[in-house]
Amino acid sequence: MFGGLPATIDPIQLAGKGARLRGKLPVKTMRRLVELCRDDSGEAAVDLVFERGGADGMPLMHGTMSVTVRATCQRCLEGMDLKLVAEPWLVLTRPGEREDIQVREVDALVVGKPISLSELVEDEFLLVMPMIPMHDEQACPASVYKTAANGDDAGNKTNKPFSVLSGLKRKK
Ligand SMILES: [Zn+2]
Repeated sequence: MFGGLPATIDPIQLAGKGARLRGKLPVKTMRRLVELCRDDSGEAAVDLVFERGGADGMPLMHGTMSVTVRATCQRCLEGMDLKLVAEPWLVLTRPGEREDIQVREVDALVVGKPISLSELVEDEFLLVMPMIPMHDEQACPASVYKTAANGDDAGNKTNKPFSVLSGLKRKK
């Protein structure tokens, strides 16, 4: 049990009951995510609804999960807060059941036995994790944009590319 959430769930059973799970999960329970971060601090906020929906009453899981992790900016190599938000919408099926659903353009989760909630949540975060995390350009210490915009000759910004060029020429 973490933050009011069960450690393992059977999403299809929960969908039958129309359950909603809301709570917090510590990032340190998600080892694969932690490997991509600078530390294991932080807590994920999870809000998931399980229900039977759609025309054919298929079990569904949908909701929102968000977390702020400490990542490394790949431009300046400094630490940065990286917010991950996942909004999964998954059709739930048992193994061997409704294979037509699984080949359609809809995300399906095949559930055989009760699954780890933190792994389920972690999988969703890994899907939205950027391949190359970076600060916003304006916020990154290594950004050329910032140097140009904050230069004391900001009024002469248009001249800047040429002064850089002449600097290069002089070094030759
Ligand atoms: Zn940066």
